[in-house]
Amino acid sequence: MKSIYLGLALILLIFVQACKNKPMKPSVEEEVVYKGIDIEQRMAKYHEVELNTDLSILTEKEKAMLPYLLEAAQIMDELFWLQAFGDKDMLMKYIQDEKTRRFTEINYGPWDRLDNDFPFLEGFREKPAGANFYPPDMTKEEFEAFDDPAKTGLYNVIVRDKNQKLKVVPYHIQYSDQLKKASELLLKAATLAEDSGLKKYLQLRAKALLNDDYYESDIAWLDMKNNTIDFVVGPIENYEDGLFEYKTAYEAYVLVKDKVWSERLAYFNKFLPELQQSLPVMPAYKSEKPGTEGELNAYDVIYYAGDCNAGSKTIAINLPNDPKVQLEKGTRRLQLKNTMKAKFDHILVPISQLIIDPSQTSLVSFDAFFTNTMFHEVAHGLGIKYLVKNKKTEVKDALLEYYSAFEEGKADILGLYMVDYLYNKGELKDIPLESYYVTFVASMFRSIRFGASSSHGKANLMRFNYFIQEKAIERNENGTYKVNIEKMKQAVAKLSREILAIQGDGNKAEAKKWFDERLRISDTLKEDLNRLSSAGIPTDLIFKQGKEVLGL
Ligand SMILES: [Zn+2]
Repeated sequence: MKSIYLGLALILLIFVQACKNKPMKPSVEEEVVYKGIDIEQRMAKYHEVELNTDLSILTEKEKAMLPYLLEAAQIMDELFWLQAFGDKDMLMKYIQDEKTRRFTEINYGPWDRLDNDFPFLEGFREKPAGANFYPPDMTKEEFEAFDDPAKTGLYNVIVRDKNQKLKVVPYHIQYSDQLKKASELLLKAATLAEDSGLKKYLQLRAKALLNDDYYESDIAWLDMKNNTIDFVVGPIENYEDGLFEYKTAYEAYVLVKDKVWSERLAYFNKFLPELQQSLPVMPAYKSEKPGTEGELNAYDVIYYAGDCNAGSKTIAINLPNDPKVQLEKGTRRLQLKNTMKAKFDHILVPISQLIIDPSQTSLVSFDAFFTNTMFHEVAHGLGIKYLVKNKKTEVKDALLEYYSAFEEGKADILGLYMVDYLYNKGELKDIPLESYYVTFVASMFRSIRFGASSSHGKANLMRFNYFIQEKAIERNENGTYKVNIEKMKQAVAKLSREILAIQGDGNKAEAKKWFDERLRISDTLKEDLNRLSSAGIPTDLIFKQGKEVLGL
């Protein structure tokens, strides 16, 4: 298999370098020991939490399904290693220090994902942009000249054939051994499923893993409504392919639905058309009709594997990605409640204590964080997808490299705008309105720490500078920030208007101006961010997870 050869090539390369001057043939084990750079410091960016939930709500059969799903998830983990790096075992064999081993596992390879992929193992160079989806020596030009319409597919890798020519290999062939095993596990789990929707989905997903056609199983996933257990599995997101964003990476989430919180969420779906109409923009910028068929659900995650377990961890997802399925059926938005709570407790609360004016820290609340995150996801579905003056062009294709930062910025700000709107209608009254605003501001500091390589990081930094300019937040001399609620309300409406205008007009020049002017970290902000790091506040989470943690 390709990945093994790549692994061998890497080891061989290091081996050759290590024993250049030695005529005798030393064993590889003696010669190659990888050492980590600044491992303690890098590790401190993560806080470890246990992934757990109340399993007593499950039936005996549902509990019996979990081991199969966990095992299938572990296969997705194995596949993601192959996609991100190559042969895991081959690499791990030559790392002796326990902490370095753990950090390599967290990163699925020798590159630090929270430090712009810095190669933290001595002997490794920068990460190939196309990860292991393409031959490491392939240039963009060679790919463009490669004449095979399948080459841009989501579910195949590009390898070299015997004559060193590029060749397309579908995932179900490249990874056939692992996928056969995973597929069997899904079928076993399906025999235990009491919910007919879940049974059908697992059966179709098992089939899809073996033929790379996910359409039917995506539809079945959206049709399933009464299940308590959910299993998101397969090749899904395309961020790991930093070269072209074509290839999807394997991942899995094992989820248990929180029915009480889900009901709370379902209630807000009906407000979507009204919310779209309430947006503070000219009618032309809100004429699109959002679907109300989509679902909002809350879950506890009991297992993350593969892509979603690498680097910063997801707290809300919106699937499926297939635009054909989205158009036909909409999407399901999943709020991952226990992970969200862990980020709130271990990251957001400590940040607020250092960064929010003492008179406002008590306003930071989990309810507000959960609600703001939920409306962020909802807001992705509102606003504008096609240009006002040219309904055939998507905003995405007009704004190009600026698009994702503005789309994330839009979701944040419209989300907050909707919270304000619903609050004034008498909804969301469990906590004061100020709580949503102050929690939002504290969370901005959390996201700015993801750095400028993340769209969320960019969006939050630009908005931070905008809020300072509008005096919606003011910095005290001691480096804490006070939220001015009245000015904040005005700034939220004004910023919503500005972002929707940039999107609706496809105004790339204005988007660039925003980047040039507002993607800056002032000296005082730098000081404040350093204060957070020196206080040992983690940037993200890692998980202790699996059968033992769950007591299975
Ligand atoms: Zn988003």
